[in-house]
Amino acid sequence: MQQLSSYTRVCLLHYHEIGLKGKNRKKFEAQLSDNLHHALKSFHIEQPKRISGHILVRVHEGSASLELARKAACVPGVARVSLAYECAPTLDDMRFLAVSVLSRVGEFSSFKVHAHKSSSTIAYHTLELNTLIGDALCEAFPNKRVQMKAPDVTVHVTVVNNVVYVYASLERGYHVAGFGARDSFDVDEDAAITQVGIGGLPVGTAGKVMVMLSSGFDSPVACWQVGRRGAICVPIHFSGRPMVADTSEYLTQDIIRALEPYGCVGRLYVCPMGEVQREISLVVPQSLRIICYRRIMFAVAERIAHIEGAKALVTGESLGQVASQTLDNIAVVNEMVTLPVFRPLIGSDKQEIIAQAQRIGTFDVSCQPTPDCCTLFMPKNPETHAKPSMVHAAWDSFDHNAMIDSLVDAIEYVDFSQCISYRAPKEKKDFHATLTA
Ligand code: ATP
Ligand code: MG
Repeated sequence: MQQLSSYTRVCLLHYHEIGLKGKNRKKFEAQLSDNLHHALKSFHIEQPKRISGHILVRVHEGSASLELARKAACVPGVARVSLAYECAPTLDDMRFLAVSVLSRVGEFSSFKVHAHKSSSTIAYHTLELNTLIGDALCEAFPNKRVQMKAPDVTVHVTVVNNVVYVYASLERGYHVAGFGARDSFDVDEDAAITQVGIGGLPVGTAGKVMVMLSSGFDSPVACWQVGRRGAICVPIHFSGRPMVADTSEYLTQDIIRALEPYGCVGRLYVCPMGEVQREISLVVPQSLRIICYRRIMFAVAERIAHIEGAKALVTGESLGQVASQTLDNIAVVNEMVTLPVFRPLIGSDKQEIIAQAQRIGTFDVSCQPTPDCCTLFMPKNPETHAKPSMVHAAWDSFDHNAMIDSLVDAIEYVDFSQCISYRAPKEKKDFHATLTA
């Protein structure tokens, strides 16, 4: 009598082929494999390896769990995760597993078998396998319909190097399972099923960016977006210390911990700028203060970006959302820097950003109100369409260069271990104080 528990369950990861052409392909796969190894280390997995267009994740002396599959689905570069049972290429094993897999997917009316073969000496043709395994399924599920086009369930039988992997993928599964699903993934613990992954590219394949991170809803989502595209993220946070409490510095660290599953953050820089803001507030007209604060923030961020070797700045700005995010004001702040500034949320509505924050897990932290440099010395009527000449006059009314130098000198940082590709800069290894986590 065959027992499902005597078969090993593994994870087969599928990745998009985009960006995998030519020389990049090997680099992409090696990076994805290393990132997975790091993200899943608590599951005691073997080094993930490439097999026939997939990455195979095996647990040392054990079976892969649903929890492991869910974690794997959050690693950038993973498009889908299939929990699969592994067996020898015998018809008996394949049929038994196909029936077991289909009996654990929950409700369905129609199904088909999809056999696939590569680098294998197995005697059967894939069409033959489809029929032979399909017959066993028809016998076991006489009330279900075989349907070639868009069935509810597809039972995959993938033979690679004479090892067979059997798993199911569900049409409805794409709506209820995997990364970002609001509903819980309600299937049998022993199911062998496909979940949706986060997609994107492995972190470490797109260089380094400096993310201007507040603890609001927007910038954590912007950080996640560029991290998902393969960027190593180095956030910088400006707090209102010593004029306001340092709560925002801790919330920003909580945001980074919430981003841990995606493994995209290396180090957080914290720049206390309360004193500088106070000085600016004494000399700059109310309506132009935010613009001057933001010019300082951009200048400091770019200086740290150069030290880090980061090649772009990233913000969570969305056009017209608040006074500082009108086209005129974005332009007059942007002139402070020469690095490209990425604004992945520029065309997003607040509702969309909040929904995304819920999916990625930063929403709860961002809900906590806290003063940071943005709330400090806030004018009642900020300028929404600043004239460059007026901004330049205000800007020249204080010693901005000395302020920028002093802020860069006073910057603090804390390192995170979630991103294996992050390399700290050699220069300034001995930055003043190290922020306590
Ligand atoms: P968020 O929800 O990201 O705080 P917001 O709607 O509050 O954005 P602004 O305060 O105008 O908008 O900030 C626009 C962008 O400037 C933020 O998305 C972020 O990239 C950057 N930013 C704002 N405050 C800070 C801060 N205290 N430290 C670092 N960057 C900041
Ligand atoms: Mg904000």
